[in-house]
Amino acid sequence: MSDYLAIIVAVVVIALAAVGGLFLQFRSRGRGAPTLPPPEAPPVITEPEAPPREEAEEGGVTTTVPPPARPVEVIAVPPAVEIPPPSAGRMVRLRARLARSQNALGRGLLELLSRDRLDDDVWDEIEETLITADVGVGPTRVMVDELRTKVKVLGSRTPEEVRALLREQLLTQVGADMDRTLHVTSHGTRPAVVLVVGVNGTGKTTTTGKLARALIGDGRKVVLGAADTFRAAAADQLQTWGERVGAEVVRKDEGADPASVAFDAVARGIDDKADVVIVDTAGRLHTKTGLMDELGKVKRVIEKKAMVDEVLLVLDATTGQNGMRQARVFAEVVNITGIALTKLDGTAKGGIVISVQRELGVPVKLAGLGEGPDDLAPFDPEVFVDAILGDHQNG
Ligand code: GDP
Repeated sequence: MSDYLAIIVAVVVIALAAVGGLFLQFRSRGRGAPTLPPPEAPPVITEPEAPPREEAEEGGVTTTVPPPARPVEVIAVPPAVEIPPPSAGRMVRLRARLARSQNALGRGLLELLSRDRLDDDVWDEIEETLITADVGVGPTRVMVDELRTKVKVLGSRTPEEVRALLREQLLTQVGADMDRTLHVTSHGTRPAVVLVVGVNGTGKTTTTGKLARALIGDGRKVVLGAADTFRAAAADQLQTWGERVGAEVVRKDEGADPASVAFDAVARGIDDKADVVIVDTAGRLHTKTGLMDELGKVKRVIEKKAMVDEVLLVLDATTGQNGMRQARVFAEVVNITGIALTKLDGTAKGGIVISVQRELGVPVKLAGLGEGPDDLAPFDPEVFVDAILGDHQNG
C-alpha cells in the first residue's frame, strides 16, 4: 500500500516538475518575444544587442517567430512636408464662418431697412446695429445719412432693392477699390521682408505660420524669423509651422536680441534664395517707447541687408475698442502697411474691418477665419460684404 502511495507521489511530483518547467520556458520566451512599439510611441532606432536572441532560439521554436525577430527597426523619418493649398479663393471657401456677423449685422440691417415705415426710431436702431457691430461712429453716420437719402428716393422698396442699396453702402465703406496687394515679391537676389507686429494673443504667431503656408502654397520659398524671443513657446510654435511646410526657421535662445534674429533670418533668406522672409516680433505693450525702440531697431537692422516691404499689424477682431487702442499705438510706433484681422470667424463685430481701416488709413489685407492651418484668406471686400448680407445665389 505504502509502495503504491510512494509511486503515486513520485508520479505527481514528476508531472508537476514537467508542467512547471514548460511554464517557465513559455514565460521566458514570452518575455523575449518581439513586440512592436505601441503606435503612439516615438520612433526608436533599436540597439543591436536589445533583442533577446538566445531566448528566441531556445527550444527550437524560432521558425514560428516572424522573420524580423526583434523590435522592428523604425528609422526616425522626418515628418512628411505638406503641400498647402494656394491662397486664391479661400475667402469664398471660408465665408460661412462670417455667420455671426451675418446674423447680427447683415440680417439686422436688411430687416430694419425692409420695414414699410422708416421713422426715427428705426433709423436709431439701424445706427445702433452698425455701432454694435464695431463699424465705428464716423462711418456709421455716413452710412445712415446715405441710406436715408437713397431710401427717400426709392420710396417703396423690394427686398432686392434694399439688399442692393446696403451692399453698395457697405462696399463703399469697406473700400472695394483699396489696394490690398501683399508685398511679397523678391527684389532680384533679395527676398521680400514681411514684419509681423501686434499684441500677444491676437494670433500673431499663428498668422505668421498660416501666411508662410499660404505663400508656400502659392509656390514661394519662405524663411521664418522667430524674433519674439521673450517666449520660447512662440519660437517652438513657429518652428512647428515651418517644419510642416518645409520653411526654414531662424531662432535663438530665449531672451536673445530680436534684431539679431531678424538680421540672421534675412541673411538666411538671401543665402537660401528665398522669395520671402517673414519675421514674427514680440508684442509686449510695456511702454510705447520700449516698443518703439524694439521695433525700430529690428527694422533698422533688417535694412542693413534688405528692405522691409510689408509691416503687417495683427489685430484680434473680437477685442473691439481695446484692440483699436492697441492698433493706434502700433501705428504711431511703426509704419504699418497692412492689417491681418484675426478671429473674424468668432465675432458678430465684422464692422471692425471698416473702423480699423478708417482709423489707421491702411487696408485689411488678410482675414483670419479659424484656427485651422489654412484658415487665413486674402481679404476680398466683395466676398466679405456678400457673406455678411447672406449671399443667396451662392449659399
Ligand atoms: P500670439 O500670442 O499673438 O502669437 O497668438 P497666437 O498665434 O499664439 O494665437 C492665439 C490664439 O488665437 C490661438 O489659440 C490661435 O489658434 C487663435 N487664433 C489665431 N487666429 C485665429 C483665427 O483667425 N480664428 C480663431 N478662431 N482663432 C484664431
